[in-house]
Amino acid sequence: MITTNELYRKTLLTIAGNPRIERLTIKYGKSLARRFIASEHLDGALTEVRKLNEIGIMATLDHLGEGIQVLEQATGYRDEYIRLIEGISKSKVQSNVSLKPTQMGLALDPEACYQNIRAVAREAKYHRNFVRIDMEDSPYTEATLQIVERLHREGLTNVGTVIQAYLFRTEADVQHCIEHHIPLRLVKGAYKEPAAIAYQNAKDVRSQFERIIQLHLDQDVYTAIASHDDRIIQFTKRYAAEHSISKERFEFQMLYGLRMQEQERLAAEGYRVRCYVPYGTMWYPYYTRRLAEKPGNLMLVLKNMGR
Ligand code: FAD
Repeated sequence: MITTNELYRKTLLTIAGNPRIERLTIKYGKSLARRFIASEHLDGALTEVRKLNEIGIMATLDHLGEGIQVLEQATGYRDEYIRLIEGISKSKVQSNVSLKPTQMGLALDPEACYQNIRAVAREAKYHRNFVRIDMEDSPYTEATLQIVERLHREGLTNVGTVIQAYLFRTEADVQHCIEHHIPLRLVKGAYKEPAAIAYQNAKDVRSQFERIIQLHLDQDVYTAIASHDDRIIQFTKRYAAEHSISKERFEFQMLYGLRMQEQERLAAEGYRVRCYVPYGTMWYPYYTRRLAEKPGNLMLVLKNMGR
């Protein structure tokens, strides 16, 4: 049976897909989106990261953009990521980067996308930094995994990706990535996926999430667990403590603007914590996924409207 939260999530993602709603939100909702977006510019984003570092939180910077329409946009994003990696190096903040395959042209020209990501990965390697390839919706799952594997075969092992617990295929993907030494961020999954390929029920997603956390932590590989869910955080802490897994072997990741006190608390307890810090002007799809995740996120925005 579908729960109220699941119905809310599906409805919001459907409404957000309406072009008229998108136009209106972009025109009038910019100041409200600021809660989840660090800055429109690189300098502002680096300033936010410095503040996080001061309280013991690392970052991953995301230059917002996805689903580009023409390939030239991808080269613009590629160059922005190269500037970003240089900026991180110069300012000496503790941050790696996260990017989206469709931002680099995956939907238009997979080979061009590969070359764009490769250029970013090489720059990151030069600066001893790391590139996380975010996982988008299911038409791109296989291609994204193949890009990461190909980069690794070329020696660009400073690249990792993301595995979504809601997909049925997930456990096999985690096994495969472990065998190929591909660093993973584990998440629930943020897109609207059909029942033929993905769990629709929050309880099933959480169970599979716990299974893959366990599977990953049992191996001698570094694990990134990205969730705001207390049950997932507690599960990870408990499992690590019971199996003598050191706090150095995994990190918690959360999004900028969400559960900031919890991020600080975990860092103060000695856990490694990384905040996902998005910046840029193309915030609409990212913003609507955040609103869809939790009615509470929409309430936060509505409360700010009155201010
Ligand atoms: P939710 O399902 O949002 O929340 C579950 C429960 O947690 C809530 O019912 C509540 O009890 C508690 N909770 C949640 N938020 C709060 C709060 N603010 N205050 C108090 N309690 C709260 N998805 C992708 O598909 N691809 C990606 O590449 C990707 N990258 C991500 C990177 C990071 C760093 C993070 C944090 C998420 C990423 N996601 C990604 C999104 C992810 O898939 C989920 O959609 C998102 O994290 C929501 O799931 P959740 O586990 O955080 O908990």
